[in-house]
Amino acid sequence: MFKLKKVLATLVVLAMIFVTVGCSTNTKSAYEAGTYKAFAMGMKGEVNVEVTFTNDAIESIVIGEHQESPSISDAAFIQVPEQILASQSLGVDVVAGATITSNALIAAISDAVQQAGGDVEALKNIEVTQEEVSMDLVEKQADVIVIGGGGAGLSAAVSAAQDGASVIVIEANAYLGGNTVRSAGAMSVADPETTSQNEMNEAQLNEIYALLEKESTDEKIIEWQSIVTKQLQEHLDANNTGVFDSIEFNCLQLYYRFGAVGDPLMIQNTTSNGLVAKNWLGELGLPWAPVSHTVVGDSWPRWVTSSEHKSGVAYIETFENAIKDLNLNVEIITALAGEELIQDETGKVIGVKATTTKGTPYQLNANKGVVIATGGFSANPEMMVDYGDGRWSDLENVKTTNDPSSLGDGITMALTVGAGVVDMAHVQILPIADPITGYTDTLVGASTNMYINSEGLRFVDESTDRDSLTNAILSQTNSEVFIISSSENAGIDADGMNIFGRNVQELVDQNSVIFKGETLEDLAAQIGFDPKVLIETVEKFNLAVQTGNDEEFGRLTFGGDLGNLDGTPEILTGPFYACRRAPAAHITKGGLTADLDGKVLNTEGQAINGLYSAGEVNGGSTLGGIVQAITDGYKVGKNIVK
Ligand SMILES: Cc1cc2nc3c(=O)[nH]c(=O)nc-3n(C[C@H](O)[C@H](O)[C@H](O)COP(=O)(O)OP(=O)(O)OC[C@H]3O[C@@H](n4cnc5c(N)ncnc54)[C@H](O)[C@@H]3O)c2cc1C
Repeated sequence: MFKLKKVLATLVVLAMIFVTVGCSTNTKSAYEAGTYKAFAMGMKGEVNVEVTFTNDAIESIVIGEHQESPSISDAAFIQVPEQILASQSLGVDVVAGATITSNALIAAISDAVQQAGGDVEALKNIEVTQEEVSMDLVEKQADVIVIGGGGAGLSAAVSAAQDGASVIVIEANAYLGGNTVRSAGAMSVADPETTSQNEMNEAQLNEIYALLEKESTDEKIIEWQSIVTKQLQEHLDANNTGVFDSIEFNCLQLYYRFGAVGDPLMIQNTTSNGLVAKNWLGELGLPWAPVSHTVVGDSWPRWVTSSEHKSGVAYIETFENAIKDLNLNVEIITALAGEELIQDETGKVIGVKATTTKGTPYQLNANKGVVIATGGFSANPEMMVDYGDGRWSDLENVKTTNDPSSLGDGITMALTVGAGVVDMAHVQILPIADPITGYTDTLVGASTNMYINSEGLRFVDESTDRDSLTNAILSQTNSEVFIISSSENAGIDADGMNIFGRNVQELVDQNSVIFKGETLEDLAAQIGFDPKVLIETVEKFNLAVQTGNDEEFGRLTFGGDLGNLDGTPEILTGPFYACRRAPAAHITKGGLTADLDGKVLNTEGQAINGLYSAGEVNGGSTLGGIVQAITDGYKVGKNIVK
């Protein structure tokens, strides 16, 4: 199981820092020499530090135990202590994209200063010595320039470099990973061998028949239906009792699950490359878990994860290790945001202008092409509203599960060189995000366990699609839902962590989104549910799971999902948990129009020479998510070199 808890034990040596950053000339403080321990709450729990003082200086800062996300917080753990030591000031800058971790570090170090008898307020006012930043243009050249260091960007970089290209990846954040590293790490892959390890029930068979009966005039849809009819017959003739799967069936499900939108050719392109990408990642060292499962909003058990990390960290680590281990010609520059595409006189895209967070301008010239892999725009309410079609009413105020860098920069840049966009109003809302932060990392309980409203009653089939779940939740009191789980399906590992590596007891102690009771009565008392109503609701739900007959809401599948891989959602033995959730903007399905090779198309449908795109920045596929990021990146990397 993925353990975030770790000891970074970074001893930042004062003398070394002075050489690189320079020393403040401001007044010195007086301290009681010695080493002091302190902590403050970070993004995911306590951030511990050990600070050593001489009589007149902060001498060293050692980072102790914490649960912050690797990648996202690493830059803060390096840069904040470096700046404090170099300037002997507490008025230092936070690190872009890691604000909460940076602030926790500053708070913990301030506490240590106080324990040592230092004057925290005075230290906050000491001017921070900034490293001298050059404003001279930095010019670099490579075969391929990738804008965005998430799953799609790194996938494109590794794929192109494996085929011999030199690559530069620029990443706006101080860390790699984007939404990929924040994700739950489940990749949707039509892999009949893995999917069929789950037993198929009647409801699933009926779902297949229902899709085969849908009427369409689209040749591709008709072709999928005809192929699936044959494949299913073979599956049944072979007495295979496992869940049926195939690329064409996955395409049919995707097309209809999202309301018959998307380009069938794009859907087939991504879906048919899923298994190729899965195998490629396996070759690069990602240890796939042998069992596939369902996720919220998709009842088909074809989602695979790493056996080590139950989050998206696995993908980014795999690419970073591959670049190192295979000695690939990939240069990664973080804290550098792409701003403008450069074109030659023919309109061909030949490079990118970018600026570091400190203001240094860059020009990156591409011999073969530029890949836009900047992700979606769920953290840009203005853009969602501008392109919205009214399907969601409150997009300007909606929280998001996304990294703050998900602003749609790549789309904005491409529009200025004439790119077309498609499906831009298609914003997918995740029904079950944290109601306070919008993030997903506080989830306790598998995401399709029993949902109840503030009155303690079920109100929806928990296995239905995300739009239906969101609409159902939005019409409940406070637009909120509680996911109820028991010790069998709370998704807590032996170290007490949830699937995102957060300490569940610490979340319970915060008493705002996760509630725990040894009995159901106990749980009800904490949230204010009528215990009788809760117990009755649980009994009815358990009966529906046992009989497979959900009279109230018609739920048909009760299989395991992420956080409860092999189990059922039956609520049996304490401790019991209630996880408060609300909808948040999650994946933007719309984006740039690109052809099957990943070349960006202009508004007339012609390829823009030299410009490629990969991942969530693209529209038209409906698939989205990790599989799109990896398959697009893999394909674009190969095509650009070809
Ligand atoms: C909390 C959460 C959970 C999820 N869980 C799943 C899941 O389990 N399964 C699944 O399939 N999908 C999941 N998704 C969706 C999935 O993670 C994303 O769709 C996918 O990872 C997108 O990959 P990407 O590489 O296109 O974008 P990202 O991973 O977001 O990468 C884009 C990168 O571009 C950078 N960038 C942006 N602008 C610039 C610029 N101007 N210059 C330089 N860099 C820039 C960003 O900082 C970012 O690092 C989840 C999403 C979230 C937010």
